[in-house]
Amino acid sequence: MRRVTGVATMRTMRSMERLTPPPWKAKVVEPIELRSPAERRIAIGNAGFNTFLLRSEDVFVDLLTDSGTSALSQEQRAAMELGDEAYAGSRSFFRLEQAVREVFGYRYVIPAHQGRGAEHLLARALVGPGSKVPSNLYFTTSREHVELAGGVWEDVAVDEAREPASPFPFKGNIDLARLEEALARAAPGEIAYVRQEACLNMAGGQPFSIENLAAVRELTRRHAVPFILDATRISENALFVKECEPGYAERSLPELIRMIADHADGAIFSSKKDHFVPIGGLVAVNDVELARKLREQVVVYEGFPHYGGMAGHDMEALAQGIRESTDERIVSAYVAQARYLGGVLEEAGVPIVLPIGAHAVFVDARRFLPQLRLEEFPAQTLAAAFYLAGGVRSMERGIVSGQHGSEPYDGLELVRLTLPRRVYTQEHLTWVADVVIHVLRHADEIPGLRMTYEPEHLRFFQARFAPLARFPELAIEGEPATRGAQKTVTGVPISTKR
Ligand SMILES: *Cc1c(COP(=O)(O)O)cnc(C)c1O
Repeated sequence: MRRVTGVATMRTMRSMERLTPPPWKAKVVEPIELRSPAERRIAIGNAGFNTFLLRSEDVFVDLLTDSGTSALSQEQRAAMELGDEAYAGSRSFFRLEQAVREVFGYRYVIPAHQGRGAEHLLARALVGPGSKVPSNLYFTTSREHVELAGGVWEDVAVDEAREPASPFPFKGNIDLARLEEALARAAPGEIAYVRQEACLNMAGGQPFSIENLAAVRELTRRHAVPFILDATRISENALFVKECEPGYAERSLPELIRMIADHADGAIFSSKKDHFVPIGGLVAVNDVELARKLREQVVVYEGFPHYGGMAGHDMEALAQGIRESTDERIVSAYVAQARYLGGVLEEAGVPIVLPIGAHAVFVDARRFLPQLRLEEFPAQTLAAAFYLAGGVRSMERGIVSGQHGSEPYDGLELVRLTLPRRVYTQEHLTWVADVVIHVLRHADEIPGLRMTYEPEHLRFFQARFAPLARFPELAIEGEPATRGAQKTVTGVPISTKR
């Protein structure tokens, strides 16, 4: 058993910090249950040691993703009643378009069923064989769609993005020298667009600075190439700018969001994140010709341009969610949850990515399980261990997600504990912290995994694994007391009040 330093007892840590109450309360709840240790062993075995393949009924605290898992507000639910399901000319589309124009300022809005739908349209419209897309690191589906269209992904992130221990506050920045070189090297028309992702997921939910964004804008303008944001987590990025970038502390969150959006020619959004909806996404641009190309693609792959794969009521919930995503009290409250969980873990000596990101705490599996070689999938292993220890579901963000073809993998090896917005309470988070710290105590007893099934595309979703040796008994003590806990319902209408 490994000694965990820097922590007296779990109980003293619990009282260390108290979160400010968030500006909402639960009205509808969804029951959750902690399976027994024996049941959890069976469940993770049946799932091939891949947390994506667990059934949600076997999960106690679900931190797999913040995608589509946020709680809707009563205003969103009410707006859904107004959904206009007309195939064409739906009022709901025009209300969505209005919200996008007001909040982000982009002129043309092309809806899609979710973020990757929007990425697909963009790749079809702008990427051709051999064309290049320079970007800060990558996102799995973003890169996949560029490559399926024949394009080449080019990483131009700052070096700090790949250094989990670096305290640099703007790991979402683009390395300007690297970008300039890529732009100068390219033949005319070879760069499809430059992409910059807000609160860069693969670096640990890390923001870019507006200073960096403005420099990227300047370079792309000089070389006459489109600049497109992945604005999926723009609200969180704006909050970090307000907190950390000199000169912006007095700006309001809506002002900062708009300022960020204004720097680019357009943006794609997975609305399943910042916009609090279970489904939805869009691409928004200012150029009329690009909008025309996108509309030609949307009718083939998503649906008529007035719904793009969403129902009318989805567009209503999204329009309202976009407005709520500019509310600083709401965004601050859920970003504070990540900070709280990360703070407790850091205090206990758990190796995490610093600074703590917006939507998740990323655990560094290389340092957590130093006895495992990368080929033994430390992060995949650790995610399975968290589940076995306390029914906590997390996600691998390492070699399984990131390895590309036959290139050697030299990226981060992380487990992401992702916070659905407005869903869990501080008690849930202390449970998660207890589980992670408990696993750290047993870290040196944990064996690695081997892959038994590897899918051709985005392998992390459906790959299967087997342990190289039997996992130790990891179950955390004191489980029965937690049976019957509840989390806030995340969208499905379940009325308990008559
Ligand atoms: C989730 C996500 C996407 C893809 O969106 P989906 O809605 O999951 O299809 C694209 N970019 C980023 C940064 C994301 O987090």
